[in-house]
Amino acid sequence: MAFVEVEALRKTYPGASRHHPVVAVADVSFVIERGESLGLVGESGCGKSTLGRAVLRLVEPDGGKVRVDGVDVTALAPEPLRKFRRNAQMIFQDPYASLNPRMAIGEIVGEPLLVHDLADKRERATRVAALLTQVGLSPDAATRRPHEFSGGQRQRIGIARALISDPKLVIADEPLSALDVSIQAQIVNLLAAEKAARGLSMLFISHDLKMVRHLCDRVLVMYLGRVVESGRPRSLFSAARHPYTRALLSAVPVPDPTRSFLRLPLLGEPPSPANPPAGCPFHPRCPRYVEQGKPSVCVSERPPLDAHGAEEARVACHFPIPSV
Ligand code: ADP
Ligand code: MG
Repeated sequence: MAFVEVEALRKTYPGASRHHPVVAVADVSFVIERGESLGLVGESGCGKSTLGRAVLRLVEPDGGKVRVDGVDVTALAPEPLRKFRRNAQMIFQDPYASLNPRMAIGEIVGEPLLVHDLADKRERATRVAALLTQVGLSPDAATRRPHEFSGGQRQRIGIARALISDPKLVIADEPLSALDVSIQAQIVNLLAAEKAARGLSMLFISHDLKMVRHLCDRVLVMYLGRVVESGRPRSLFSAARHPYTRALLSAVPVPDPTRSFLRLPLLGEPPSPANPPAGCPFHPRCPRYVEQGKPSVCVSERPPLDAHGAEEARVACHFPIPSV
């Protein structure tokens, strides 16, 4: 049994019109093995944050199931849910908004220990100092306040806070996007080291494909609330079979210059999730749909996420790009 099992998870927000709710996450299923780091990529608005939050029930899913370590998280009453969260922490995107400006760093980082009653005051101070050191900050930081720190330092503080209760699962929602490129690499290395040291399972949400490639064991590509391709980063990034993945990758520098790589343009903007296209949701933007002579199946039927080839690779496309 996988450590995290997500089954047909669904989240709908009320849209501008009652007849067109926003289907932010549409029946997404995946697993995360113990100690595995799963990347989640896709354009802004495709439902990555909603999915990450729904796994921890920071937003309530309106369908599907989440099991973590055999426990049905979707069925937990408030008190057991609170206990569950000790083992499942979130690292947020914005290090400026996610730390309470009125609290000292020591209180912020130590709060999970206090909330879950895991350590007395002295022990908390010791653990806070240890965690701050681990994320590359001075233990003296404990007495200072968030405004005294840079974005990169604040993100480290957020990571220290997420790790202090020794969680088994961490959901990192674009933990790099507010940071300078030089600091991004440091944070990714820090997460990789923590993952290796603690055997963490991680859902790493990012639109930075290079970082995902570096950190993740497996990757899901999302489009309009659905997973459209998944696989190991090595094969996915060198030979993506979904035209959407190919187009996303074409926007970044060549991942592996020794491999030939068919580049595809990413046309236009994603459509509104309140009004997704019929058939394959990607077809209006798909260069391959055009290239194949606009097959009617792309307009009439949504392609299922089918297994193909080795390593649990999956793709939801009627005409996946042939593997070489
Ligand atoms: P991502 O993290 O990939 O950018 P989100 O999960 O934030 O995507 O958003 C997915 C879709 O759901 C978007 O269309 C967004 O506008 C919508 N959405 C997100 N949060 C809310 C909310 N609280 N209320 C209504 N719509 C929302
Ligand atoms: Mg997001």
